[in-house]
Amino acid sequence: MKQRIAILGSTGSIGVNTLDVIALHPERFEVFALTASRNVERMHAQCCQFKPRFAVMVDAAGARDLAQRCRASGLSVEVLAGAPALSELAQHPDVDTVMAAIVGAAGLAPCLAAAHSGKRLLLANKEALVVGGTLFMDAVHTGGATLLPIDSEHSAIFQSLPPDPATWNALVDKLILTASGGPFRTRDPQTLADVTPEQACAHPNWVMGRKISVDSASMMNKALEVIEARFLFGIAPQRIEVIIHPQSVIHSMVQFVDHSVVAQLGTPDMRAPIAYGLAWPHRIRSGAAAIDFGQLTALSFESVDSALHRQRYPGLALAWRALESKAGSTAVLNAANEVAVESFLNGQLRFDHIAVVNAETMDRTHFAVPDALPALLELDLQARAVAHAVVRRLAP
Ligand code: NAD
Ligand code: MG
Repeated sequence: MKQRIAILGSTGSIGVNTLDVIALHPERFEVFALTASRNVERMHAQCCQFKPRFAVMVDAAGARDLAQRCRASGLSVEVLAGAPALSELAQHPDVDTVMAAIVGAAGLAPCLAAAHSGKRLLLANKEALVVGGTLFMDAVHTGGATLLPIDSEHSAIFQSLPPDPATWNALVDKLILTASGGPFRTRDPQTLADVTPEQACAHPNWVMGRKISVDSASMMNKALEVIEARFLFGIAPQRIEVIIHPQSVIHSMVQFVDHSVVAQLGTPDMRAPIAYGLAWPHRIRSGAAAIDFGQLTALSFESVDSALHRQRYPGLALAWRALESKAGSTAVLNAANEVAVESFLNGQLRFDHIAVVNAETMDRTHFAVPDALPALLELDLQARAVAHAVVRRLAP
């Protein structure tokens, strides 16, 4: 039987890479549903190639446009509109696997729908787990879902850990997440106020969507990944470390209690962790190039704790601050960061003010611990309002 897949966010960087891997294995996978926000042209091309049963455009005008183009191309795909269709498809009885590749907290509700209905859930959408936290993990456990990390660091850690999660806490000394340092690793921190969106999005090793590219430049991406690792693997925050590794060859490592370290290596190509998630517990071809060890001149490391790196990446420490505060704090941090990054990309906020917005929003958002999804979504909105106010105050 083929694995039937719904790809949430199919027109993005992870979505396109997922379809690339699927195209290598038509005998194993069937594309059941594709979803996107507003890129009708790319969605139409994907529908022509993969012939899904359903396609969703969140944007209503985009859905009308897509339906018309699909009819003109003689496709029998059913086109749906609006965000509720994402959750409907994520829990559709004919879906085996959901690839969560939406960017931001917008992916939380469909992730929870997939978790509650016991799907195999491939998680690229780290913000959903950062916002959902233990609520997300509880949904996975009670729903009987299989949660597989796609983020390269978490895939690396998952591949380095023994198979039984019940043993992890006793065997692991530290999880060591590698970070490339992004495009500004050697830049004078005093000049970070002048950075443009184009400079921030020019990542040295990975080609990604704009939001995660900015997060990589500020190292908020690593902050989100520390939080993601805490919830995925159940390891205490003090036992999660970050080390800069500019070559992005070691994707992350596990140090065990005997101080033995197991690492996972590969070229920086998201098709490798995607193929691992799709095929787990087996392995399939991914299309990623092999490492040419003869050409690797160095694997180098830098501490994130140097005075200069603390100035360059002031947002990183907020991960531990949020994890050590009450539940819901990680959702506040994520909301602030989404607002800050969007404001930066729109030219309304300086790059070096992203961390200021994030820290101030955490200081100023007062809330009761959210007990379920509605309260969490309300907290997300509340934190966004606080963050917008901080952005307005800092506006150039
Ligand atoms: P992207 O911007 O390239 O694509 C995002 C996708 O989500 C698009 O298909 C878009 O249409 C859809 N989308 C955006 N906003 C939406 C909304 N409000 N509702 C519904 N759909 C929406 O992003 P990306 O780089 O592919 O990243 C996707 C996720 O994967 C992010 O959470 C990111 O952190 C994570 N991730 C990405 C990479 C990478 O290499 N790109 C690596 C690791 C993790
Ligand atoms: Mg990552």
